[in-house]
Amino acid sequence: MVEDATIDFLIVGAGFSGLVAGERLSSAGFKCVVVDQRSHLGGNAYDSADRGGVLIHHYGPHYFRSNSQRIVDYLSKFTEWHPVSYQIKSFTDGRFWSFPINLNTFEELIGRPSSTGEFENWLKEKRVPFDKPKNSEEVILSQVGHELYERFFEGYTIKQWKHHPRDLDPSLCARIPIRTNRDDRYLREEFQALPKDGYTAMFERMVEASPDLELHLGVDFEEAKARWNYRHLVFTGPIDGYFGRRFGALPYRSLRFEHEGFSADELRAREAISGKVGFWQPAMQVNYPDPEVPFTRIVEIKHATGQQIGASAITREYPRDWNPELEPYYPVPREEASLLYRRYAELAGREASTSFIGRLATYRYYNMDQVTGMALTEAEKLIARYGSTENAQA
Ligand SMILES: Cc1cc2nc3c(=O)[nH]c(=O)nc-3n(C[C@H](O)[C@H](O)[C@H](O)COP(=O)(O)OP(=O)(O)OC[C@H]3O[C@@H](n4cnc5c(N)ncnc54)[C@H](O)[C@@H]3O)c2cc1C
Repeated sequence: MVEDATIDFLIVGAGFSGLVAGERLSSAGFKCVVVDQRSHLGGNAYDSADRGGVLIHHYGPHYFRSNSQRIVDYLSKFTEWHPVSYQIKSFTDGRFWSFPINLNTFEELIGRPSSTGEFENWLKEKRVPFDKPKNSEEVILSQVGHELYERFFEGYTIKQWKHHPRDLDPSLCARIPIRTNRDDRYLREEFQALPKDGYTAMFERMVEASPDLELHLGVDFEEAKARWNYRHLVFTGPIDGYFGRRFGALPYRSLRFEHEGFSADELRAREAISGKVGFWQPAMQVNYPDPEVPFTRIVEIKHATGQQIGASAITREYPRDWNPELEPYYPVPREEASLLYRRYAELAGREASTSFIGRLATYRYYNMDQVTGMALTEAEKLIARYGSTENAQA
């Protein structure tokens, strides 16, 4: 094949980490090939319009947020932004609740207006003291006590991870804010926005702007190794897979996504529930913590994208056990998994001509901005190591 030739960098994975690294390296004058075994770019952030024309996130909702101006500035070269204040609710006991926990949630619980002072006093009585919370259960009990923990966190976490919160890292539940004022924003970061035309459009512009980058979809690492000779490999797939799972498979949690579209006419029947014309539910995301409901959440991303369209779509998310036939969505935040990962990371450290970046190659629950930052930093190191032929300022 004519294209099969010697290149500088082979990059495995066309998600955030692979494409950011590829754009930077090719802008520095290196010849790069990015491959992905999937038939589309964007990794788990991939979005596209459904049959009704509604932009949907195929692998679960991707709420972009960041506290890093450097990362926002970099991505802004490829997209404008649609600012969003991400809002969610929880559905249990037959009703919607304001969530994450805030003063409105407390008022819904006691059934009358209240104040920050009253809520703080109530929490003082309920909190279970722990010197240093050792797991996710202790993190939440130490902040809100049993009643709110059992209502909103326990069932949801067991469903999501198939492990009790007391068996999961404290960092997992510490991600969720708990507030005594009326601030009901889901996330804490300063910059919260979605790419104006979607993630896929942003990635396509990134590829177009890359002077010497070839993208090959539907090509896996094994095939790529046989097709290209490369000086350096950037690997963004699962680290245990790279090493043939020689110490055993790292545990992942997988998901099944069920998308359903609705016409403007169909949505009319939901107005009493959603409270809005053209929407199926009252918020972008509704959590279902009850154990008897088989899904964890329903997402209607149109609330966040701001797309002006009569139709809408929802996605139900069903957690499931992972096996090598399924996508490895979440690394499992447990001590034994971290220990196994460290054995693979030690092997990775000995591979002088391979960089392991991104969420799967570092087995960490990183957000999109964090893997972007990681890819920018790794690209800088590689440019310094192999010498740049052009100026590549991020
Ligand atoms: C359900 C869900 C919801 C999320 N929500 C958010 C959110 O709201 N906000 C946020 O910031 N982050 C969120 N994330 C995290 C976000 O998806 C990641 O931070 C980001 O996509 C990681 O990018 P990546 O390039 O490292 O990995 P990925 O996006 O996983 O890309 C890796 C790519 O490598 C390819 N690949 C793997 N192995 C091989 C191989 N052997 N050969 C060829 N190709 C291979 C895969 O097909 C994949 O496309 C969410 C993740 C999930 C699963």
